[in-house]
Amino acid sequence: MKTDADVIIAGAGPAGSLAAYELAIHGVNVLILEKSIFPRYKVCGAGLTHKILHEIPFDVSSVFDTTIHSIQFSCDFKDVFTRNSREPMMYCTMREKLDAFLLDMAKSAGARVQFGEKVKMISQTEKMVEVTTHTGLFHASLVIGADGVSSAVSRSADLRDNISLGLAWEAEVKVDPEMVKKFSKTVFLDWGTFPGGYGWVFPKDDHFSIGVGGPVSLSKYMMPYYQKFLRYLDTGYRIQDAGSGFQVLETISLKSWPIPICNKKSNFHHGKILVAGDAGGLTDPMTGEGIFYAVRSGKLAAVACFDYLQGKSYSLERYTESINQELMNELLEANRIKNLFNMVPLKIHHLVRDKDHVWRAFGKVLRGERLYSDVRKGFGKWKFLWSITCCLSKWVSDYKEKHFNNTTLK
Ligand SMILES: Cc1cc2nc3c(=O)[nH]c(=O)nc-3n(C[C@H](O)[C@H](O)[C@H](O)COP(=O)(O)OP(=O)(O)OC[C@H]3O[C@@H](n4cnc5c(N)ncnc54)[C@H](O)[C@@H]3O)c2cc1C
Repeated sequence: MKTDADVIIAGAGPAGSLAAYELAIHGVNVLILEKSIFPRYKVCGAGLTHKILHEIPFDVSSVFDTTIHSIQFSCDFKDVFTRNSREPMMYCTMREKLDAFLLDMAKSAGARVQFGEKVKMISQTEKMVEVTTHTGLFHASLVIGADGVSSAVSRSADLRDNISLGLAWEAEVKVDPEMVKKFSKTVFLDWGTFPGGYGWVFPKDDHFSIGVGGPVSLSKYMMPYYQKFLRYLDTGYRIQDAGSGFQVLETISLKSWPIPICNKKSNFHHGKILVAGDAGGLTDPMTGEGIFYAVRSGKLAAVACFDYLQGKSYSLERYTESINQELMNELLEANRIKNLFNMVPLKIHHLVRDKDHVWRAFGKVLRGERLYSDVRKGFGKWKFLWSITCCLSKWVSDYKEKHFNNTTLK
């Protein structure tokens, strides 16, 4: 039977578009099936850490709204301080712009896209993969599931066993334009309010994206936390150098959305099907950052598909291996650091405030110059101390999450 493409990709987010781009520039016949019509709004902070620039193989700076050089930290709304970096740490954008741009790059490399095509199910025979959408059937040699947190592909291929969910609330908030201008290089971060969660403000062209997120088990606290965070920003009683608060004028599209977290090394392929990005649960459990991991896994998926189609490998096993070795090692390390933070949030908050080398290390992780796993390496021959600390902090963190009861967030 004739196929519709060598590779069908479900979803045109960052994972899907980067996989499509990499395949198309190497002459592979790629078809993307995307359920919505672009450009489309997506609830997301759309903060890109600097390290993503090493991964995207073309210039993406035209879609950046702002470049971040400062972070204002608070711990449970207290102990406010600002840290600055000469080097850019992050870039903020809007997902409708970023995703449309990445998809356009994939299209100009030769990928085809069909919008309004929702993938419902995947099945595979020895020779090919059959993709069922709500309009009909498509066939390909290989399929990449890049269809986000509720991935129909990962469900069909039984690749969701080790994914748990976090939750985030976010809105686009219009404030006094002077404030947007004044804080266009600053991210606001409140952490330590509840275990495994934090609040953020990301400056955009003409507004702020403001959100909070954390473990699903604490979801009932999230809306009160969001409201408290907004009050804190609005009144400005602790915003450094502001004089007054943000003066919130309008809140647009306040929405919640799950964040998938893969908590174990797992299978990221099954037969001729691979999953990338959120479909594989590849987000940072500490920060919720997922765009970098979507881009990286999309590229790795493209390499695995290319090698398979060229006959250089007979299975997609190498994809699972590379995701586990490169990305999961790092994400599991991030989870250990998250637990450590949950155990002693104020202590770490003060270390970031008082110790230049801690702040520099923080910046280097965002810039991709250091890895989370370097923390373990820093223990040298005392690695067992790190292992003991990890066990203890996991226990404390789980306990704090289970018994959390903050009366000010009700
Ligand atoms: C509130 C919030 C804030 C966040 N902030 C940040 C941040 O600041 N920085 C960061 O790095 N990450 C952030 N994330 C995480 C980030 O949004 C995701 O990790 C990232 O979008 C994953 O990219 P992806 O390509 O895997 O999936 P997605 O971006 O979700 O793309 C999936 C695509 O597939 C399409 N699709 C879905 N189902 C189907 C189907 N059945 N058939 C066909 N198409 C389908 C969707 O329409 C979508 O276009 C945030 C998440 C949330 C919830």
